[in-house]
Amino acid sequence: MVKHVHRILGESSTTVFLLGNEAIARGAIEYGIGVAAAYPGTPSSEIIGTLAEVANELGIYVEWSTNEKTAFELAYAAAMSGVPSLTAMKHVGLNVASDPLMSSAYTGVKAGFLIVSADDPYMHSSQNEQDNRWYGLHAYIPVLEPSNPQEAKELTYLGLELSEKFLHPFILRSVTRVSHARAPVKLGSLRTPRVSGLFPREPERWAVIPAHARKMKVELVRKWRELAEVLADIQYNRVEGDGKLLVVASGVGYAYSRDALKLLKVEARILKISTPVPLPNKLVAKAVEGVEKILVVEETDPIVEMQLKNILFDMDIHVEIHGEDLIGRIGELTIDRVAQAIAKLCGIEWSPPKPIEIHIEIPPRPPVLCPGCPHRATFYALKLASRKLGVDPIYTGDIGCYSLGIAPPYRMQDTIINMGGSIGLANGFSHTVRDRPVVAILGDSTFFHAGIAPMINAVYNRSPMLILVLDNETTAMTGFQPHPGTGITARGLQGRKIGIEEIAKATGVDYVNVFDPYDITKAIETLVKGLRIVMDGGIALLVSRRICSLLALRLGLIKSRYTIDSNKCIGCLLCVKSLACPAIVVGDAKPYIVESLCRGCGVCAQICPVKAMVNKE
Ligand code: SF4
Ligand code: SF4
Repeated sequence: MVKHVHRILGESSTTVFLLGNEAIARGAIEYGIGVAAAYPGTPSSEIIGTLAEVANELGIYVEWSTNEKTAFELAYAAAMSGVPSLTAMKHVGLNVASDPLMSSAYTGVKAGFLIVSADDPYMHSSQNEQDNRWYGLHAYIPVLEPSNPQEAKELTYLGLELSEKFLHPFILRSVTRVSHARAPVKLGSLRTPRVSGLFPREPERWAVIPAHARKMKVELVRKWRELAEVLADIQYNRVEGDGKLLVVASGVGYAYSRDALKLLKVEARILKISTPVPLPNKLVAKAVEGVEKILVVEETDPIVEMQLKNILFDMDIHVEIHGEDLIGRIGELTIDRVAQAIAKLCGIEWSPPKPIEIHIEIPPRPPVLCPGCPHRATFYALKLASRKLGVDPIYTGDIGCYSLGIAPPYRMQDTIINMGGSIGLANGFSHTVRDRPVVAILGDSTFFHAGIAPMINAVYNRSPMLILVLDNETTAMTGFQPHPGTGITARGLQGRKIGIEEIAKATGVDYVNVFDPYDITKAIETLVKGLRIVMDGGIALLVSRRICSLLALRLGLIKSRYTIDSNKCIGCLLCVKSLACPAIVVGDAKPYIVESLCRGCGVCAQICPVKAMVNKE
């Protein structure tokens, strides 16, 4: 029988079509990492997802951690004990891990330690557009930036190698168009993973108490200067071509610059930058010789541009420099944006091609909760519970699918700031807005990620609030990763299942209960009780528990579908206007159910005043 080999375990010298994130995973195992940990977050999730799929075969330790700080610390400790490791996160995740990040540069490591930050320009699925190369400058940690999946693999390897050579952490900054692009990737050979290490007692090396940290800072600044020199010599930083125009292009900006120059038929010198932080000053000095104009092409913030201007100022070189003024700093970089900037600098008449007009009416598809989504049922029940009590709660939302509750007909997300921010902000509102109860809405994975600490704060400081955990038994938004509430580990093994309600009870929450959102009457009753507790100055935590309808579909758990008996239906449209399930469509005055979309949750059947919905089991 032919043994199935995962594509990232392919033979050396073969070429495989890989996603950028899979290429990063391959680079890490080519280096021989022994440990990898992350919290899922788009566009980074496939790195650990892929490593988890091959972890048992390779004998390496891979985990989904409860949050990015926990993942960072786990991988950092592995590197302290001589085991090469990787941690991966989306850009906002690095904010959560920024505490150990800053200290890791002071202590350094004993084996390769790579921090992958997958940034999301244009905010395809993020709450901001931050450029994490700033963290490199801030923390004195070099940043590598690949321009395509092949380089993503190679720079992962190089980052681990340099990290081990200089005993210093490295950051690999990817962006959505690299992490989520698929391309042929030539594989290198796999090293045997190093999975166990030693940790002799050396507190002066690892404990950042002031007396130690002061000495560490001196060494850190020395190392930083040395790294800027060394990075100039790596092959991924290089000068190509010639001309009076110098394009300094970092990361994915290099690929766009090459295409744009070809498109415009312009001869230019390119300084390809794969180490935007710190910028290799020796190489910059070589690249600017004899040029008249410089254009810096980079995605998001002018980090290379800023350092370049500093270097040239120190060298007393005066040359016209453009970058952010022509490229902009909002949204994703495109070939058109780069071409427009080059055309302007070269005095060429050029404008981006007009988009092809498609003469088809495409129906507008705003993002909506899926058919049968348990969150929809919870929002519906919460609305009715509030109405029953005649209250208008403040709904503090969080990061997850349930942020879609912001849309009509629910409009039940007043704030969405960051992971765990729902309970965090509720702590503030509960002491300042006295005439409205506060309902903090968050998901199961989010509860474990960053909900527990602010919940303890609420109990300790007596901040009345209803904490509503929408537990769909997975981390649905990032691709169904497990979490402590599922009890399954990243490698598919049985872990310890941790109950949200048990944690809440243990911390002293006044009222804890669990309900099934598909049972609307019971759900409303429980929510009314929870809200009453809050109105009396207490803290309630309710878990609305029902498996994600998409996961239920995948697992073959959908047993029935519903249809509408048009003879019974009175066309009141209550099911359409107040539930808004995408499977229910309005026909000629009366609605009907698209059978292929229906997930058989039965919620519509419970709210129809004339019981027109029929279960087709
Ligand atoms: S709620 Fe019932 S009666 Fe009203 S439109 Fe929907 S199916 Fe018809
Ligand atoms: S049973 Fe009703 S509410 Fe549930 S998925 Fe089907 S149509 Fe939508």
